[in-house]
Amino acid sequence: MTCDFYHQANKSVQSLQAYAPGKPISELERELGIDNITKLASNENPLGCSKKALEAARKALEDISLYPDGNGFALKTALANKYGLQASQLILGNGSNDILELVARAYLNEQSEAIFSQYAFAVYPIAVQAVGAKACISPVKDWGHDLSAMLALVTDKTKVIFIANPNNPTGTWLGEGELRQFLEQVPDHILVVLDEAYCEYVEESEYPDGLAFLAEFENILVTRTFSKAYGLAGLRVGYGVASETIIDILNRVRQPFNVNAPALAAAEAALSDGAFLSESRELNRKGLCFFMKSLGIRGLNAIPSVGNFIAIDFGERAQLVNDELLKKGIIVRSLIPYQMPNFLRVTIGTEQENILFFEKIDEIGLA
Ligand SMILES: *Cc1c(COP(=O)(O)O)cnc(C)c1O
Repeated sequence: MTCDFYHQANKSVQSLQAYAPGKPISELERELGIDNITKLASNENPLGCSKKALEAARKALEDISLYPDGNGFALKTALANKYGLQASQLILGNGSNDILELVARAYLNEQSEAIFSQYAFAVYPIAVQAVGAKACISPVKDWGHDLSAMLALVTDKTKVIFIANPNNPTGTWLGEGELRQFLEQVPDHILVVLDEAYCEYVEESEYPDGLAFLAEFENILVTRTFSKAYGLAGLRVGYGVASETIIDILNRVRQPFNVNAPALAAAEAALSDGAFLSESRELNRKGLCFFMKSLGIRGLNAIPSVGNFIAIDFGERAQLVNDELLKKGIIVRSLIPYQMPNFLRVTIGTEQENILFFEKIDEIGLA
């Protein structure tokens, strides 16, 4: 008898859907045999990364025969100094994705439940289901998190609540007042993960700094990343901030050398390059304006976004538009995996990339 290694897998893993990433440029190049492809699919920084970060990563390559600093001392110190934290409140991850998984591994099991919103980041269901916990999915309000609906799902099995602020793929965000009110109502033994992957882009005055909540609430973990505004997606580095106790627990299930040496060095250097971050933010602000204006002219609707991406409603033609854009060398993100089949998520690019996107949309036509 042959062994069935599908059914040998954990039940909860058998029903998992693998994460569908944006198509890599090299893959579309192979398929089309062309080479000037524009990728607006993965919310990467169109300006690349800080020169200082690149330089630091290159230098770190000289020592890659050595294990990296498993404690990430230098990067944690730089983060602690920048944000007024203790190093013991910080954990580093192989992307902030890594930290979301550490949370699931340390706090969830087959008996527990985690709450997150419909149309929230696709990694939450994967992390939760991978450890056999139950995913409780709250309905949205105007495409964004409905905090009272989330609260209504709390049971005595709830261990973790994931909130992305702003959210991906919708670009929606929560203000300081509503988030504070929510945190006051969440039972304080439930860990609230505030995923702030795009916080560096948000300029709304009502947008809360998740780190400021740490002084008031002990049940919060803020996660951030160097993948988006800092432009280091390929190196995989993110961080989590929480109480010493939570960080200690997460560290117990962390791989000893989860963040590689070039990533540690680049992230540390990136933190010190405020000019690059400002430039990225400014480009994004102008790009978002250009998108809103260009969409309006064409009678296209989008979900108002504060991130570096925008979910555009193409109605029933969304998949066709996606396919046509691919043929024209533009990669955007289908939101079928998010059960938003009428939407395409487009990353805000450089000025030229944004213009090109709308030129291609006009070629495809909207009729
Ligand atoms: C991109 C993203 C992340 C994490 O990305 P990493 O590259 O793993 O740091 C986390 N949350 C959201 C909502 C994201 O969009």
